[in-house]
Amino acid sequence: MEKILFGKKVAKKILEDLKVEVEKLSNIGVVPLLTIFMVGKDPASDYYSQNIIKNGNKLGIKINLISLQKDIQEDELIKQIEDANVDSDAHGILLQMPLPFHLQADKVTMAINPEKDVDSLHPLNAGKLLLGKECFIPCTPAAVLELIKFYNINTDGSKVVILGRSNIVGKPLANLLLKKCKYANATVTVCHSHTKDLEEITKSADILISAIGRPYFVTENKVKKDSIIIDVGINRILDKDSKQYKFVGDIDYENVFEKVKAITPVPGGIGSITIATLMSNIIKATNISLKENK
Ligand code: NDP
Repeated sequence: MEKILFGKKVAKKILEDLKVEVEKLSNIGVVPLLTIFMVGKDPASDYYSQNIIKNGNKLGIKINLISLQKDIQEDELIKQIEDANVDSDAHGILLQMPLPFHLQADKVTMAINPEKDVDSLHPLNAGKLLLGKECFIPCTPAAVLELIKFYNINTDGSKVVILGRSNIVGKPLANLLLKKCKYANATVTVCHSHTKDLEEITKSADILISAIGRPYFVTENKVKKDSIIIDVGINRILDKDSKQYKFVGDIDYENVFEKVKAITPVPGGIGSITIATLMSNIIKATNISLKENK
């Protein structure tokens, strides 16, 4: 196995495969369309939206970015989502998080048609995922799975430790790796900020996946020799030497590099695959909508 598990290679393969799918749709006169709802201004959400638009344009997917005032009333936001739900040309819906405090994220999320819910935020999709049923897989856990498949990482019977239990990364990822199928069948342990003896647990992992948002948290003493390390964390820190901001992962890459068998870089790792898995979910949503409208 290659020592550095580059995400860009994985993303390239996914996007190449999707290009064929988009062409097939184009041949029957269908252009996949994603509607993004962005409430207020948030630099990270804005960056993500622009990245989606850029990648969508390259692939032939239309993106409709709806920017809404930060003081929009909840009813009005839900009404706009419901309009997109019934618009047969709008195949996928993505609601940018976080929402302003006056909006109840749970309530607004429930308004998204689960069959258009490309970010897999709706409880129905979360429940299906838990039961191992067919559903949209949230983009970041899907990116981790794609990396595992691409590099043919053996998860069967492996001890996988996931750092982080968020609803968008840690929890869905744990359920996906527990599934009784290829590229899963792992024995999964999920750690969080209340976990005791964390170092003992991480040191026992054949595969360690970190998604906690703590720069350089995982050092050489926390990893097992010859283990595989997947770094989901993206942390913006000020570089002492250059005085410039830079992005680093949760793993102290230089520090663990010699000890481990393989590792994803940051940037250039899981983050590079996430947009491709989103594009994949948009195509999936388009195909679902075509079946529904037959
Ligand atoms: P959240 O803040 O929602 O969750 C962080 C999790 O880490 C929580 O479960 C928290 O525990 C746990 N945690 C925090 N500190 C520690 C600690 N010291 N020891 C053990 N566990 C700890 O984060 P997200 O899941 O949204 O994101 C996690 C990271 O992944 C971030 O860096 C984010 O930028 C990145 N990310 C990357 C993406 C990509 O595409 N590559 C996409 C999404 C996120 P507790 O529950 O107890 O609070």
